[in-house]
Amino acid sequence: MGNRCEQCSKFVSLETAEPEINSVDINGTTVTVDARSVRNCAECSTEMKSLDLNEDHELELDKFEGWADLGEKRQEQLREAWNAGQIEVEVEDGGGAETSEGGGSRYQKNILTTTLPFTAKFSWEGLDFTFNGSVTCEHAASEYDDCQ
Ligand SMILES: [Zn+2]
Repeated sequence: MGNRCEQCSKFVSLETAEPEINSVDINGTTVTVDARSVRNCAECSTEMKSLDLNEDHELELDKFEGWADLGEKRQEQLREAWNAGQIEVEVEDGGGAETSEGGGSRYQKNILTTTLPFTAKFSWEGLDFTFNGSVTCEHAASEYDDCQ
């Protein structure tokens, strides 16, 4: 069960590249990160396998930096606005996305763990709130599709 690279005309090992982030979106309070994880020929870097990733994260108001500094009354007001959908959250790629390989034993399935960081922020009554989070997903190497 090898991976044959047509460029190299032989069986090669694969190396996992940094995932490509296609988009970071928000719908209400749900962050969706759309990305693509790629595995390349270790010798010539030709793309051999790829997997599309689409991961959701539900934002929680009390995880935002700035929340803890509010008094109880202000927290209540903000919570109300948040629940009413009046808070407009902006999200962006947090940088540093990576895929790491596990289960290296030849009798184990290779598991690839991808971490996709994002930053969410919003302003409310002149105050800034920020949340640095990430979504993580695990996929077996066999789930990756051939590029050719
Ligand atoms: Zn190659």
